[in-house]
Amino acid sequence: MVNVGETPRSWSGAPFRYIAGHVALDLVNTVDWTAAGLVEDRLNSYERLVEWSVGAKLVSARTGERLCAHAARRMTAAARALRDARALRHAIRRLVLARLGHEAADPSLTADAALASLSRMAQAAAMHHQLAVVRRPGAKRSAPAIDWVWTGLDDAEPPLDLIVWMAAHAAAALVSSSSVDRWGVCPGATCGWLFMDTTRNGQRRWCEMATCGTRAKDRRRRGPLRARPTPGGKETDR
Ligand SMILES: [Zn+2]
Repeated sequence: MVNVGETPRSWSGAPFRYIAGHVALDLVNTVDWTAAGLVEDRLNSYERLVEWSVGAKLVSARTGERLCAHAARRMTAAARALRDARALRHAIRRLVLARLGHEAADPSLTADAALASLSRMAQAAAMHHQLAVVRRPGAKRSAPAIDWVWTGLDDAEPPLDLIVWMAAHAAAALVSSSSVDRWGVCPGATCGWLFMDTTRNGQRRWCEMATCGTRAKDRRRRGPLRARPTPGGKETDR
């Protein structure tokens, strides 16, 4: 059972990892979901959320700089957007676990509440996602394309909710897709990260072999008596 309190038990300035195979699951993996609660939360500021989104290729580095500058002038709105990103992260994880049959894994957020929350965020996102004529770099002027674009993406002051909109849009597409048989939860004792198993034989078990996979292997080698995890956190850095 994962006890997800409002406040993480610890924060982390560690680099973000993008190992999930889907941006919505990479958002989930910005914190460790342990039995004791949320540990090593990497989303500890709006700037860190922007950093994550640039690394996830949701926005460009230039848009990221503009978002940070805008956030410095509107700190309350930025704090709200950060809260929404954490709530979205929680809802995504809850829905994935529910669809994988882990119904009782998180009593702090029911699957119905998670679905309502994601639906609300995706609807809000849709209000800012519109069809527009776009010009591809290098394309002929006479042949513009039509594509979906995000409102304010290229503004000098991009909307502070932009990242949440983009992530909610991606998450809604994921949970309503038929890819559920490819979703996985890392069984690492202090991990709880999610991933898409894109291996041909569907054998992916760990978030990363180099962290949780290796740890489990070492534990098996040492034997059960020395296999206890370090209390209150991860045994080694990611
Ligand atoms: Zn793991």
